[in-house]
Amino acid sequence: MPRTRTGGGRKNNFYMSRPVRFNVHTVPADTKNSISMVDMPEGHTGDGFFATKFSDAVGLARKNSMWPLPFATSCCGIEFMATMASHYDLGRFGAERLGFTPRQCDLLMVMGTIAKKMGPILKEVYLQMAEPRWVMAVGACASSGGIFDSYSVLQGIDQIIPVDVYVPGCPPRPEGILDGFMRIQDLVGEESFRRRNGEQYQELMQSYGIK
Ligand code: SF4
Repeated sequence: MPRTRTGGGRKNNFYMSRPVRFNVHTVPADTKNSISMVDMPEGHTGDGFFATKFSDAVGLARKNSMWPLPFATSCCGIEFMATMASHYDLGRFGAERLGFTPRQCDLLMVMGTIAKKMGPILKEVYLQMAEPRWVMAVGACASSGGIFDSYSVLQGIDQIIPVDVYVPGCPPRPEGILDGFMRIQDLVGEESFRRRNGEQYQELMQSYGIK
């Protein structure tokens, strides 16, 4: 199709030379085999009943409904955007609801270079999250300072807050972030109710100056 120009060049009308095509794929009619279900926890089954531990049932619900808080400061955050987008789709793991207020979230995902000046803010965000909370250090910078071995960069966020899972890479691919997320799910699903009140956990918190 031709391109027309009117009104001295500022008012242009461009016609597309070909129609826009969207990614429309036919959805298979067989939904029965395309829906995956989570595994049942261990327990006892009988006629019309299933019994399991309360903590296993809570763990199952928690690990499949995580609310991540993305604390993204640089390039690793872009990989996270890809992880959330349709191709990789973190929502498949029950974590599509990102929260940008710490009080509603249970998984802090730190992605990017954290300057020492930013350290107290990151810690404040962590403190505002309610227990139980988990932390993922995504990428080399958050895990260890990465290539920035300099006076201004925190050499790993575990200097200021406890970390549950580290994801290596500079940046990690979305597959790596998904794998780290699944490791978090394993921890969440298997955590006992008493862990947060236990001596070991209290000592860990005290070592970070957190009461
Ligand atoms: S680990 Fe690499 S990609 Fe990620 S924030 Fe640091 S420099 Fe950027």
